Amino acid sequence: MHSHDEALARTVLDHVEHRLRLDPVPLGRLGDAAELDAALKGALGGGPCAPGDVLRLFTEHIEPTVVSCDSPGFLSFVPGAPTKAAALFDMVLSASSLHGVSWLEASGAVAAENQVLRLLADLAGLPGGAGGCFVSGGSAGNLSGLLVARDTARTSDGRPVDRPRIAVSDQAHSSIGSTLRIMGVEALVVPTDDHRLTGDAVRAALAADGDPESVVAVVATAGTTNAGIVDDLAGIADAARAHGLWFHVDAAYGGGALFSPRLRERFAGIEHADSLVIDPHKWLFTPFDCGALLYRNPALARAVHTQDASYLDCIHTDAPQEWNPSDYAYHLTRRPRGLPLWFSLAVHGTEAYREAVEAGRRLAVESAALIRATDGLELLREPELSVVLLRRTGWGPADYDAWSRRLLERQIAFVVPTVWEGETVARFAFLHPDLGLDTVRTILADMVADSE
Ligand SMILES: *Cc1c(COP(=O)(O)O)cnc(C)c1O
Repeated sequence: MHSHDEALARTVLDHVEHRLRLDPVPLGRLGDAAELDAALKGALGGGPCAPGDVLRLFTEHIEPTVVSCDSPGFLSFVPGAPTKAAALFDMVLSASSLHGVSWLEASGAVAAENQVLRLLADLAGLPGGAGGCFVSGGSAGNLSGLLVARDTARTSDGRPVDRPRIAVSDQAHSSIGSTLRIMGVEALVVPTDDHRLTGDAVRAALAADGDPESVVAVVATAGTTNAGIVDDLAGIADAARAHGLWFHVDAAYGGGALFSPRLRERFAGIEHADSLVIDPHKWLFTPFDCGALLYRNPALARAVHTQDASYLDCIHTDAPQEWNPSDYAYHLTRRPRGLPLWFSLAVHGTEAYREAVEAGRRLAVESAALIRATDGLELLREPELSVVLLRRTGWGPADYDAWSRRLLERQIAFVVPTVWEGETVARFAFLHPDLGLDTVRTILADMVADSE
């Protein structure tokens, strides 16, 4: 199984080349469970099969039933649109089993990943000592960052806080709720005015709380997933400083916008983050499972996350250049998943990233204008980043579902509805730089044509 097989390599690489050349990639479709069962029946558990036959099983049954998040028409959730350079380099990681646990084993990979983390830290305005690691995504980043917040907290007389709580907005991402449940930490839920957490709201919630001393951290969102709203980061940072709270910023989706000087203003205050999460697999065009986690003071994270085992002693030597990504999150074995972004950034230059990020933003602004000018459509708020929320006057949930299915069946787009202020509405998440306004026009035309 471990010897090089020329035919096998050719078969797989040919498919990869074919897939990379598709422009645009087909959107794909929803699979049927019975059909998939029938197609996959007998694939495993028996003797060997010809690689070409197994690959055909994949290309005919598996691949088409995975909706392509890298298609320009994928506007649901948060799309992923890796650059070809990043996608190809992701294969290099896999083909050479590159790993990235420690400086001892993987100094080159760690140095390159840290170069990317430094670039992100500079965009955010974090100090020179900031650092961290790449994790699988925003959920893992939020959990790892908030663990440090919880375990670092001390009372005014220096003791660990008995039953620490964390202040979160009622708009925080679902992974923050999961994180708190996993940690057994209670939330102080701060209500928002117009969906945006402010420093004043945090102060008011603390003032009204019976046990403000137990609140050890506050979570701000820099770009909500549902609506692209950036919290009042500067105000929250102020409130955090005044109350001695750890300031965690979840910029999993929005963080890519730091590449745009025009959008950077909205993030004022992000430079005060104690921990910061940015998902390159969202708005930084990197293949999946790439989240960046940064700490203002990495030593605090090391104290919480370093795993202690006799067989690991050799990776912790206190050498000044030593940096072990395993010390900055709740993981040990990891692939150096920052390298595809490193390669792509080096190949394309940061200016290309600014342009690609701004393309998504521009499309959101242009689409908003189109919606405003179309009878029967209502723009629900001015887009702040690249998410647009709209209503088709008179539609209920079933209408949005039918519209969504219709667009996918006709291979125009994959757009699923969301809920906004209790109502089912349409949502576009723009990200793919190749999407044109003409596709948005087609989608909107379908919405208004339908109920005439
Ligand atoms: C996507 C997202 C997350 C979760 O990130 P995953 O990479 O999906 O784990 C957390 N917070 C925000 C704001 C997000 O957009």
